[in-house]
Amino acid sequence: MDPTQTTLIDLRNAIASKQVSAEEATRAYLDRIDTHNDALNAFRDRMTDYALKRARAVDTGEVTGRLAGVPIAIKDCMCHTEGTTACSSKMLEHYRSPFTATAVQRLEDEGAVILGKTNMDEFAMGSSTENSAFGVSRNPWDLDRVPGGSSGGTTSAMAADLAAAALGSDTGGSIRQPAAITGLVGLKPTYGRISRWGLVAFASSLDQIGPVTHTLADAALLTQIMCGKDPLDSTSADVPVESDLHDVDGEIDLAPGGGKLRIGIASQYLDESANHPAVTAAFNEALAVYKQQGAEVVEVDLPHTEYGIPCYYIVATAEASSNLARYDGVHYGHRTGEPTPNGANAIQHLMSQSRAEGFGSEVKRRIMLGTYALSSGYYDAYYNRALKTRRLIARDFDTAFEQCDAILCPTTTGPAFKIGDKADDPLAMYMNDIYTVTTNLAGIAGVSVPGGFAEEDGKRLPVGVQLIGKAFDEKRLLRIARRYERETELWKHRPAL
Ligand code: GLN
Repeated sequence: MDPTQTTLIDLRNAIASKQVSAEEATRAYLDRIDTHNDALNAFRDRMTDYALKRARAVDTGEVTGRLAGVPIAIKDCMCHTEGTTACSSKMLEHYRSPFTATAVQRLEDEGAVILGKTNMDEFAMGSSTENSAFGVSRNPWDLDRVPGGSSGGTTSAMAADLAAAALGSDTGGSIRQPAAITGLVGLKPTYGRISRWGLVAFASSLDQIGPVTHTLADAALLTQIMCGKDPLDSTSADVPVESDLHDVDGEIDLAPGGGKLRIGIASQYLDESANHPAVTAAFNEALAVYKQQGAEVVEVDLPHTEYGIPCYYIVATAEASSNLARYDGVHYGHRTGEPTPNGANAIQHLMSQSRAEGFGSEVKRRIMLGTYALSSGYYDAYYNRALKTRRLIARDFDTAFEQCDAILCPTTTGPAFKIGDKADDPLAMYMNDIYTVTTNLAGIAGVSVPGGFAEEDGKRLPVGVQLIGKAFDEKRLLRIARRYERETELWKHRPAL
């Protein structure tokens, strides 16, 4: 077998049954990275020697577990004691973490082989990886296009089979949007489901780690392993994790009374003039699949959806402005080598010059926006209002979930855009998140599943469909999504590289 042309679970089984050794599998992925990473720029830092050492330990039986020998890539904002954790920022270019993120540690405790760090928008701020200090990553389906963001290195690597599975982080859509436009599964779990310990903070009340994989079964297995209370993260939820969360083919628990599966649809997501025809077609086909399986379609109302983007860009920037204060060249981060000009305050100069050199322009824009929204006199007008709006958005979903089991909608309005097309227009870039941010604001779970293709410039460009579920209801959400994946099996398509 070719260990790079399979799924995480099939590879795991092949290694367990000694059809292929962990070292062979790891080498096969490392070779593919060598061949393709120059063109894709998917990995920011590789952990080659470490990965091979871990793989050999699996082959000798020293390391065991449910992921024994499976090569996995992690986003550059997840701390690992090996290599550097740069958040794809010049600010943290040389940062070596003294600890490993809990989510990553839980994968390693099950025998995973971590291959390296994937490129991202600097500090996870963006939708294209064009904000990385280490260059843009490319979409394997069309190298002139972005792989989405901010987890774009993760999705570029996964779509090109440079890892068997990968982790991303999602603050406003950064797992689901890039997964959708590279033909992958991407799950943003409920806020608090997976520990954020060791995830470099962007907006702490919104950030979540989640899997990017080819299949829902792979995503469910990783989620099962990563979920659960972590004493190191006080915001991780003490909610029991079902032992069969990974079993996406299991029965779906339906509302009392043995009712039908109820799929919610909301007009706010279905404006045909805003959505690319391929997105509309994918949504319609997904809806048809559910109807054909006997699901009941329920129209739900999410009236505050239109405030999602402004609300998100106040809450996220406010939290970022505070979280990123620690990068001042003293506590953390890049320190300027420039001497203090005569008469200037040395510490002030050191801090401001270090920040001026270390951060890219989008990060600076967000720090300024967030500082403004929190400043006295504007706090009530912006930050407080955004928090109230956030409550209303969450309430919309609470009401909707009284009527349905999951909401079906697009993940993005269109397929991948060309590199450079939106780079100079922050608002156009922010609009990418229109169908994903409200999930983060409400703290609930959302998953993007491959939905089909758009044809542009003679290329096939993936689009996704999204299912949104209630808080801590990932088991049902993944099973509902699986009903669609099982019919379509769109994940089997691979880009020609
Ligand atoms: N694209 C959004 C932003 O720029 C979301 C990023 C994310 O989820 N990390 O903030």
